[in-house]
Formats: sequence, C-alpha cells, structure tokens
Amino acid sequence: MEAFQKAYDTIIVGSGPGGATVAKELSKKGQKVLILEWGNNAPIKGTAPQAFGMVGIPGKNLLTTDLGRLNMLMRGTTTGGSSVFYCATAFDPPFEMLESHGINIRAEIDELKNEIPIDPLKNDLIGPMAERIASSALELGYDWQQLNKFIYQDKCKPNCWMCSLGCPHGAKWTARNFVEEAIEHGATLVNGAKVQSVIIDGNKAVGVKVKIKRRTYKLEAPTTILGAGGIGSAEILRNSGMKDVGYDLFVDPLIIVQGKASDVKKGKEPQMQYGWHVANEYVMTDFAMPKNPKLSIMVKIKDELGGRITDKGGCKKRLSENDNKKLEKGYDHAKKILKNAGVKKINKSIVFAAHPGGSVKVGDFLDSDLKAKLDNLYVCDCSVVPEAWGLPPTLTILGLGIRLARHLLKVETPSQEKLQSAPN
Ligand SMILES: Cc1cc2nc3c(=O)[nH]c(=O)nc-3n(C[C@H](O)[C@H](O)[C@H](O)COP(=O)(O)OP(=O)(O)OC[C@H]3O[C@@H](n4cnc5c(N)ncnc54)[C@H](O)[C@@H]3O)c2cc1C
Repeated sequence: MEAFQKAYDTIIVGSGPGGATVAKELSKKGQKVLILEWGNNAPIKGTAPQAFGMVGIPGKNLLTTDLGRLNMLMRGTTTGGSSVFYCATAFDPPFEMLESHGINIRAEIDELKNEIPIDPLKNDLIGPMAERIASSALELGYDWQQLNKFIYQDKCKPNCWMCSLGCPHGAKWTARNFVEEAIEHGATLVNGAKVQSVIIDGNKAVGVKVKIKRRTYKLEAPTTILGAGGIGSAEILRNSGMKDVGYDLFVDPLIIVQGKASDVKKGKEPQMQYGWHVANEYVMTDFAMPKNPKLSIMVKIKDELGGRITDKGGCKKRLSENDNKKLEKGYDHAKKILKNAGVKKINKSIVFAAHPGGSVKVGDFLDSDLKAKLDNLYVCDCSVVPEAWGLPPTLTILGLGIRLARHLLKVETPSQEKLQSAPN
C-alpha cells in the first residue's frame, strides 16, 4: 500500500490555476484533498534546461496542430501548470459573458485582488523596450495602457528577463503558491501521476484510474474534479467514454512582430508590461524576448471556435479566414508602432498559442456549477469557458475555482459590499 492510498473527500486532477485554487479552498475548510499532477515538483530555477523539460517537450508540451498556419500550442506540465511559465498578466474576466451562462464571479475576483498581487509594475521595474513601444503607440493615438501583473513587486528584480523561464525569485505569483497553501492545510500532492480516465459507476463518478511510476492505481473519493487544462481534461473525459467533449475549442493564436532599433542595445525585461485590447478582436502588448534587444510586440487574437482534442491528447485546429484576417490586421498595427519607434526591418514569427480552452464547455457537458453530466464529477480549468475567448485567462480560472469550492462546501459567496468593507 502506497502512502497516498488513503481516504479523501476530493480527488483533484492537475495543479494549474483551476485545480490549485479548488485544492486550496477545500483543504482550508478541512476537506481531505488529493492532488494528482502529471508533472514534477522540482523547485523552479529559471534555467532553460529546466523550462525545456516542463514546457518544451514536443508532443507533450509543444503540440503541433499540423493544420494551416497554427503551428505550435504550448502548455506547462509541472506543479502549477502553465502558470509557472506564463507572463503573469492579469485581465479581468468578461463578467457579462459569464453571467449570460449563469456564472457570476464578481465577488470572487474582488476577493482575489485582495489576496494575491494584481497591479501594474512600478516605474523602477518597467523596461526601456516596453517604454519605447508604449510611447510610440500613444503618440500614434493607440489606447496603450499599463497592464496588471501577478507579481510580488518587492521580490521582483529590475532588468530581469526570467519570468518566462520560471521566476527563481518567488516574485511571480503562480498556482504553485496555492498548491503550497493546500499542502499546509493537509492536502496530499502526488507528482508524476498521469490520470488516464474517470471511474464511472452507473451515472456517477467514483474516482480515477491513474498511472504513477508505471503502475496503475484506482483511487476513489466522493468527489472528483478535473483541472487538467484545456487539453488534459477533454483527453481524460474522452478516454472515459465521453466522446462528445473536446470539440470547438479556442486557442487564442498569437504572433510576435519584431525588429531592431539602432539605439536599443539591451534586452532584459518582463513581457506584457503595457498593451491594447480591442474586445472581440485582439490583445496587443510589448513582448520582450529573453536577452534579445529587438523591440517586440505580441498580437494575440480571439479565434473562432473549432477543431478538436484527440483521444491521445493532441489538438487539431485550423484557423479560419477571419482569424487570419485578424492576425494580419494586428500585424499592420504592430508594424506601424514599431516603425514609429525607430525599427527599420520588421519580421513576424510563426503562429503560436498558449490558451487552449473551451473544450469541455459550460452549457454543453457542464452546468453552470461546473458539474458534469455524471454525478460527483466537476471540471475547473480553461476548458470550461463557454464561448470564444481572446484574453489572458488565469484570473477568470482562479475566480471559477473559488466559486466551485464554495458550491461544494455549500458556502454562500459574501456580497461585494461585505468584501469591500472587510480589512485586507
Ligand atoms: C508561455 C505562456 C504564457 C502565458 N501568459 C499568460 C498570462 O500572462 N496571463 C494569463 O492569464 N495566462 C497566461 N497564460 C495562460 C495560462 O497560463 C493558462 O491559461 C492557465 O495556466 C490554464 O490553467 P488551467 O488550470 O486551465 O490548466 P494548466 O495550467 O494547463 O494546468 C493543468 C495541469 O494539469 C496537469 N495535467 C494535464 N493532464 C493531466 C493528467 N492526465 N493527469 C494529471 N495531471 C494532468 C498538467 O501537468 C498541468 O499542471 C500563458 C500560458 C503560457 C504557456
């Protein structure tokens, strides 16, 4: 018998923003929680070889969609999921869209803003490349604004470019912070645990089948929550016989547009310090590449729903004509801004994506409480988003995690007025 083979109230699959938030909230209230995470729990060093192992392995983290212009889909597999490598930019959820699907997370988002760092960077942390791009965009009349960051600014180092390799200074807030809190409150984390399928008895889920160090275990609990991300949760459900999930996803495709300005010599700063959001079209931001002195702008679009997740956890997704037009439009804006900033020769990258989601939608396989068609089974991650997206999703997923935990604990959400009057 292994140490993790104990009685639990809840099994949570995946420790990204969705899984970690529910784990923290439930274990804080005394629930016995087991977190099963495919990736490892090595301390984050901020080195390229470590990042490669957690976010760079072809077929596992880098999925080629092999269709059309969309070439590379990224996801992190380690404790904390993709948030370990994310750019730590916080965007408010599209509250009205979620409310039209019966989901109100306004109070949860207010609460999160008191709990974790969500602020624009202070002046001494802002890099010269982002400044240059911002002044050029503002001069041309773009509404180019500072963005909120999930960063503990007292721990953040000026002229540091390591966010995207995993912050070694503990300055970037990641879902690992919530996993650590869950563990402090008694949760069990098992790494190297790849969940294969949900165990179903009649019309209810009773646990999961999981492979740990080449052995397969059947672990049972009264409640199972999938938080394996936009690809992983659909893969698990499909392998559990639910072949109607995993369709019509979004990926928020992006390109990087860049070039050198002769007077910019250094390239060490965080990504996504300022940006411009045009609802339903695109988000454009500065996007410093590690140790690269080129001025870079990311153009990320809201793509149309389409494609599918395969039973082996692959992704097939072709960009529509409209998606390609949006990318071209964004490229034109980025060229204008870069030229005005002094860049002579401009080029653009292949198409990447890092926000797979919408593959297990609310209103489709899930109700507005994130409960699946099977009893005792819930999903909480980017896959639950009910419509096309086009935004950094983390803050929304955290809000959904708190809301789901409250639902399971049968605790009422405090009103926004109550939260605003509570001491921090
Ligand atoms: C490079 C990059 C930059 C980004 N920048 C931003 C940003 O600035 N702001 C923002 O809001 N978002 C950003 N994102 C996106 C954000 O990180 C993700 O949307 C978010 O992490 C998704 O959370 P999640 O809970 O859905 O799943 P994930 O973060 O994908 O976590 C899922 C977890 O489940 C595990 N898992 C998967 N399958 C299994 C299985 N079968 N068994 C057990 N465990 C499994 C994975 O290992 C992973 O740890 C970025 C992403 C990337 C890759």
